[in-house]
Amino acid sequence: MVIAPKTKGFICLTAHPQGCAVNVRRQIEHVRAHSEAFSPGRVRNALVIGATTGYGLASALCAGFGCNAHVLGIGFEKNAQRGRTATAGFYNAEAWLCEARKAGLQAHVIMGDAFSDGVKQLACAYMAEYMGKIDLVIYSLAAPVRIHPETGARLQSVIKPIGAPYVSKSVRLPDGEVVTVELQPADEAEVESTVAVMGGDDWRRWIDALTARELLSDDALTLAYSYIGPELTHPIYRDGTIGKAKEDLKATADRMLAQPGLPDAYISVNKALVTQASSAIPVVPLYISMLARVMEARGTQEGCIEQMTRLFGRLSASPPLTDAQGCIRMDDLEMAPDVQQEITRRWAAVDSQNIRELADLEGYQTDFLRLFGFMVDGVDYEADVSELACEDGMTLV
Ligand code: NAD
Repeated sequence: MVIAPKTKGFICLTAHPQGCAVNVRRQIEHVRAHSEAFSPGRVRNALVIGATTGYGLASALCAGFGCNAHVLGIGFEKNAQRGRTATAGFYNAEAWLCEARKAGLQAHVIMGDAFSDGVKQLACAYMAEYMGKIDLVIYSLAAPVRIHPETGARLQSVIKPIGAPYVSKSVRLPDGEVVTVELQPADEAEVESTVAVMGGDDWRRWIDALTARELLSDDALTLAYSYIGPELTHPIYRDGTIGKAKEDLKATADRMLAQPGLPDAYISVNKALVTQASSAIPVVPLYISMLARVMEARGTQEGCIEQMTRLFGRLSASPPLTDAQGCIRMDDLEMAPDVQQEITRRWAAVDSQNIRELADLEGYQTDFLRLFGFMVDGVDYEADVSELACEDGMTLV
């Protein structure tokens, strides 16, 4: 079929297999060109939970193509069916596994609900049979919903402020109008369910499942990803429902770090950038497009793969370098004082007339479509392509 983007709000309902494959190959090239900073032999077997898009995919590619590790990835993606394309993450996984085979690397992906006990058991069985001891576990889930494995409750993650409404500038896409939005605060139940979905409970369950089956090496490391960001987004992020979940993630890391017999657990605070998860957060797209313009001007702009190659370089130090709170700060360039001063100035001034000057709105929209394999150089979008992805190297649950 000839595949064109079909967007609805902050999601794209279609994805292009060849565009996704080019994106993955470019990321692999970047890893290969920068892996001299990785510590040889530090990562031999890696489990990446949330490995099919965004930060998790970039982490899996670093572990595989940069460290020659055997990588098991978990993702929640669908192959094409009845005239619908596969999800971008499915095409990404197909391309990753295909490139791994070509390079003689071992990789496998389980497509299923990472929150479920069944997927954890399946993953443990795979690791026990084919991988041996795991030395790196990356937890990079961004999920709107979790079915609790014990109660069966359907918990929803919401992105809302807490305590009071939040009034802010925001950008309306695709037309680029700068509008004022008022976001209503979450109630207690919404805070609780967001923490249950995006907090540390599931991460800990993964580590407990691995520990119980003695699948972790003595020097195993586990990382989960978080975000802090500047004060102007604090009401919707750091001080909002998702921020509460991230506090819980950090508390989970601290508890694991303090407990003998568990892997060293750290939070890596990553940079804000365009992914499927971040495009769903109100206000943040305006911030991300402004941040991109400011960082591009300084030559410090990074995408997922640049962030993750830098992170893997830092993992050579044991223990990894952290801030006073014990977090690995990959958002250092984003939070540089001169960058944030410039953002504050632009944020106060931005309106519908000057947005294209003050923020890289076009770049944001291109990056968004690229997540789904569109607007990728070198791809013929008029061509008739097969939408069905190859499932070699995957277990579909
Ligand atoms: P993303 O949407 O690109 O990736 C999410 C991944 O989770 C995908 O692989 C998806 O398949 C998987 N997933 C979702 N639900 C699942 C389920 N039930 N079972 C199995 N897999 C499931 O998101 P991202 O932006 O890369 O976010 C990853 C992490 O990084 C999150 O914790 C996020 O908060 C954090 N982070 C993101 C940003 C940002 O700006 N995007 C910044 C800092 C930190």
